[in-house]
Amino acid sequence: MENLFAFAENQGFKVSILPLKANDGLLYGNHIGLREGIDDMEYMKYLLAHELAHAYLHEGDTIHSPFHAEYERQADKGAALILDLLNFMEGEER
Ligand SMILES: [Zn+2]
Repeated sequence: MENLFAFAENQGFKVSILPLKANDGLLYGNHIGLREGIDDMEYMKYLLAHELAHAYLHEGDTIHSPFHAEYERQADKGAALILDLLNFMEGEER
């Protein structure tokens, strides 16, 4: 988790824990918001990876886009790549 947070901040994103209502994760410009009160670290990691994937893959408002469902599918695939790579690299360190 720290590695992914550090990566995000290093890439110029500001990651904040926020009292979000409608979503568990949100991307606005270079700001990533994660809903407060989530104690599942794996899920937090997934949320951060998912929002990072949006940031790299998509532009503008994906929530209200007619392609929203497709963008979500792409962000999930991007998140899977990020998390698999991170797990692989963290495994190498052991
Ligand atoms: Zn999304």
